[in-house]
Amino acid sequence: MSRLPIHPYRGRLAPSPTGLLHLGHAATFWVAAERARLAQGSLILRNDDLDPARSRPEYVRAMIADLQWLGSKWQEGPDIGGPCAPYNQSERLPLHRAALETLRAGNFVYPCTCSRRDVQAAATAPHAADDEPVYPGTCRAKSSSRDSPPGGCCFRFRVPDGEWISFVDGNLGEQRFRAGRDFGDFVVWRNDGVPAYQLACVADDHAMGITEVVRGADLLVSTARQLLLYRALDWVAPCFFHCTLLRDEEGRRLAKRHGAMTLKALRERAVDPAELRGQSGAGRLTPA
Ligand code: GLU
Ligand code: ZN
Repeated sequence: MSRLPIHPYRGRLAPSPTGLLHLGHAATFWVAAERARLAQGSLILRNDDLDPARSRPEYVRAMIADLQWLGSKWQEGPDIGGPCAPYNQSERLPLHRAALETLRAGNFVYPCTCSRRDVQAAATAPHAADDEPVYPGTCRAKSSSRDSPPGGCCFRFRVPDGEWISFVDGNLGEQRFRAGRDFGDFVVWRNDGVPAYQLACVADDHAMGITEVVRGADLLVSTARQLLLYRALDWVAPCFFHCTLLRDEEGRRLAKRHGAMTLKALRERAVDPAELRGQSGAGRLTPA
């Protein structure tokens, strides 16, 4: 008889509806779905529609159709509901706000009035080349987060400069990033009242009881940032499994701009999704 895990596995697929899913997403999401299935756990579909300017309802519809076509099966999600509803991130703002308040009360964050592009970009996950520059700390010493007004400015998390953040990744093994060098004080809340990806992701993964986060290796540095948030919020962090990224023939990371590689295009060309899963190596569950 197989031993039941003490903590039932809860995984998630968390696409952002800011474009069509492509082959790279298929690879990561297939691994996420397979890991939940093999662990006899649950898979949650979360619609990461935090950024009001970039999220589109047609991409939410396409994401659900693409994932169904790929063969992923989830037990909770925006299309079917579940005990952790709502599954649209944009409807979970009170929870994100509560997490911000905890960080403010603990003086882990400070208000920042710099108007920078990375503040606007903060609502979406920083994939690889578009990760934010290390913040020079201009507003760090200005004021405490406790006496700042709640609206109208952005909030940054004060990272422990020089500290090594390490974790053992389920796929890639030991990982180490240095706070203040590999990443700086990062945005947790935008100045227009939109939570940043880093904070919303941690608050939702925690509230949804996620036990393992499967994501692309381009988010390794974000995982280090998020581990600091878990610690500050006094929450137990999930396990992490980062998938190596697919590259095209020229060695470039597959991205949304490779239009022909969207799952929608492949679906419409009647490509067999089973063939696609094999090709992408998405079913591989152990490190190379
Ligand atoms: N919505 C994020 C994205 O699409 C989720 C990343 C993650 O935390 O796994 O990149
Ligand atoms: Zn600033």
